[in-house]
Amino acid sequence: MKTRDQYIESLKELKSIIYFEGEKIESVVNHPLIQPHINSAAMTYEVANDPMYEDLATATSHLTGKKISRFTHIHQNTEDLIKKVKLLRLIAQKTASCFQRCVGFDALNAVYSTTYDMDQKLGTDYHERLKKYLEYVQENDLMVAGAMTDPKGDRSLSPSKQADPDLYVHVVEKNDKGIIVRGAKAHMTGMVNSHEMLIMPTAAMKEDDQAYAVSCAIPIDAPGVIHFFGRQTNDKRKFDEMDQGNAKFGIVGGECLTVLEDVFVPWDKVFMCGEYKFSGTLVERFATLHRQNYGGCKAGVSDVVTGAATAMAEYNGVSRASHIKDKIVEMMHLTESLYCCSIACSAEGCKLPSGASYPNALLGNVVKQNVTRNIYEIDRICHDIAGGFIATLPSEKDFNHPELGKYIKKYFVGKADYSVEDRYRMARLIENMTGGTALVESMHGAGSPQAQRVMLLRMGNLPHKVELAQRLAGIETNQDEKK
Ligand code: SF4
Ligand code: FE
Repeated sequence: MKTRDQYIESLKELKSIIYFEGEKIESVVNHPLIQPHINSAAMTYEVANDPMYEDLATATSHLTGKKISRFTHIHQNTEDLIKKVKLLRLIAQKTASCFQRCVGFDALNAVYSTTYDMDQKLGTDYHERLKKYLEYVQENDLMVAGAMTDPKGDRSLSPSKQADPDLYVHVVEKNDKGIIVRGAKAHMTGMVNSHEMLIMPTAAMKEDDQAYAVSCAIPIDAPGVIHFFGRQTNDKRKFDEMDQGNAKFGIVGGECLTVLEDVFVPWDKVFMCGEYKFSGTLVERFATLHRQNYGGCKAGVSDVVTGAATAMAEYNGVSRASHIKDKIVEMMHLTESLYCCSIACSAEGCKLPSGASYPNALLGNVVKQNVTRNIYEIDRICHDIAGGFIATLPSEKDFNHPELGKYIKKYFVGKADYSVEDRYRMARLIENMTGGTALVESMHGAGSPQAQRVMLLRMGNLPHKVELAQRLAGIETNQDEKK
């Protein structure tokens, strides 16, 4: 396994093409916009090397029998699924940010089980290729960016019916050495500080969309790959320390748009090429595996938000008020509700034909749907407790100004027992964790809410619920009628 420092060193060797505001970023390491995201991802390496977290953060490879980072592991049982959730909560408590590596972790698991099913049905050899690739990822402890979301253009049209055929990633050429792909992937979490990307289709495909049913692995610095690093709310604050709120780890995953301009992929890194009937399965498995996570990582971030609200109440001199205590209890209740659901969806997991374990898909969708609500409520309560000054604080430069700083320090003072700088720092942390970019991520990360509602309707077995009611009401059930 790589250490934290080895991971960061390995990023220096990449020759990726990354743009921000029209300029090329020469090195992601030590770049103020990206370094916090690197620090956050590096925590996945740090915990794996810490004997205290060995049980959660490492696993035994089912391929080689070697000790590996859990982030490169294929879940072998429900215990693995539960450990994943616990690990994510732990790392989120340490970073209060997104550590990005779960997306590739989930992509590997989704492609693993789907390629097995494809080979069984079609006699292809995708699963063997995937196993070799997985071994390479495990041996080198690589960070893999899961790459699913296409730009999608007109959402009412299928990939092949778009005015521009590149709005979904597709195969433009096949030859005896491999394939050439073109298109783009959007909102790519952790991409610029990963080693590899694992491309997956973004939706179930029909026969016309065959060229779009593609899954393959590509180094993030392969020829033809161009990344556009996205903006975040207040991202220019990354050039100041205190104003950032969480200078070390930033917020969410440092997303980007990744353009694939005729990228060559050798056959041994291709895991789906035209088998459109399996694209829906792959999407659904990836979505469930990633939605499972959110009661882990978001519960960990919410632990920090609750701690920050509690600390701020104390700095403001209101911590003994009964309504404040009640609100903090509410934050804890909402947080633990998220966590319960992730644990339940893991404990109710099952084995897929490949032998990999898979969370309960219905409950996985409930996890994510709860996150789109509870996080807003947790953050709303935090804003209520902290006060309006988290949104109006003057800058760090004013705070530390040799002549003007005295005014800021005088008028932003709270309870006398605490320094004004502590109060300032805590306000910035709250602003960072509960502000625009973080909230939107809770809404749309791992799929927009409507996607989960579609799954709930499909998997919730509504006819069975109707029968339960009919039986108790003494009515002939739909089932009886059929007999
Ligand atoms: Fe992992 Fe959470 Fe970030 Fe997704 S949002 S990559 S689950 S930390
Ligand atoms: Fe996410």
